[in-house]
Amino acid sequence: MSIFGKLAEFDCEGLVFCHDEATGLRAIIAIHDTTLGPALGGCRMWPYGTEEEAILDVLRLARGMTYKAAVSGLDLGGGKSVILGDPDRDKSGALFRSFGRYVETLGGRYIVAEDVGTSPADMESIRTETSHVVGLGGGSGDPSPFTALGVVAGMRACVEEVFGSPSLEGLTVAVQGLGHVGYELCRLLHGEGARLVVADLHFDAVRRAAVEFGAQPVEPGGILSVPCDIFAPCALGAVVNDKTVPNLRCAIVAGSANNVLAEGRHGEGLAERGILYAPDYVINAGGLIKVSDELEGYDEGRTRERVARIQDSVKNIIEISRKDGIPTNVAADGLALERLRAGQQHPRLTTTN
Ligand code: NAD
Repeated sequence: MSIFGKLAEFDCEGLVFCHDEATGLRAIIAIHDTTLGPALGGCRMWPYGTEEEAILDVLRLARGMTYKAAVSGLDLGGGKSVILGDPDRDKSGALFRSFGRYVETLGGRYIVAEDVGTSPADMESIRTETSHVVGLGGGSGDPSPFTALGVVAGMRACVEEVFGSPSLEGLTVAVQGLGHVGYELCRLLHGEGARLVVADLHFDAVRRAAVEFGAQPVEPGGILSVPCDIFAPCALGAVVNDKTVPNLRCAIVAGSANNVLAEGRHGEGLAERGILYAPDYVINAGGLIKVSDELEGYDEGRTRERVARIQDSVKNIIEISRKDGIPTNVAADGLALERLRAGQQHPRLTTTN
């Protein structure tokens, strides 16, 4: 693999390779784009099969963060980091401190947060070496409830478009995945008077949702073809693909999962079937909005207000999509690139201090 070829392909500013024999650290930081501000993005710890896999993952994830920050109107760029290792076996305070020293050398061009395989406690270890870290235990806390809140805001924009009213009352929502975001989403939707159909690999969570919210359980394999108004993917990526597009029986796809479309062309597939798609990185930005608020000194009221604006962001994208006759995922990418281009004409200082 040509590293510079991949940097060009992903339009990425740079990669930082981190190696520390003493702590076993092997990590890669991707600073994708700092046009709009410092690159903020989580640190994922994962037992990648190969180094190539880790490089591709960090490049893809960092680019996603640039687009997410841009469409959310945040003065932030996109970045991400990956630590190669098994989070159940290879973690230590010393390893995260070592990683924190690398983050510190970047002088604020990259701000790290928690992600799959890392925790607020790991962020605390990083903080002993650098202040360029958010998502700490004592900071704004778990972002998932705010991601769920943003998904509900985005759903309102979608149902207004499809059914003529932003109310979710009486609508049927099929939620795939009852983890941190999905379960909270069910709680919020139940409070709005929606009917729930749910699936998860862990039957405990399904049972709890049935008892607490009157949700109707279905097998994980069946959730994608359940008749519903909204299908909310809150588990895996790539659930909208060649196999599933023809079988979906919903009017709207709107959930928290990242990379919902297996490929960009599946956005067109949904549009052709008359299914409205809320682009993933627009509707699931609540968590990013929450952790980014820590940079200004966390304020919950301000964060809630900013997350609520996801309704306007999704509405705007639906309008562009309708006006230009393009799928919503293409409209979202266009909006993100437009904001980046505008930023390139007025570059910002990219450090936080
Ligand atoms: P999580 O790991 O807490 O929950 C995922 C849930 O999905 C688990 O309960 C798991 O058992 C279930 N699941 C996995 N495969 C499944 C399948 N085939 N069918 C049904 N259920 C399945 O993760 P989370 O933090 O709730 O995040 C959910 C999704 O949202 C992920 O794609 C994540 O990348 C994305 N996301 C999360 C946040 C956040 O704030 N946590 C922010 C943005 C995006």
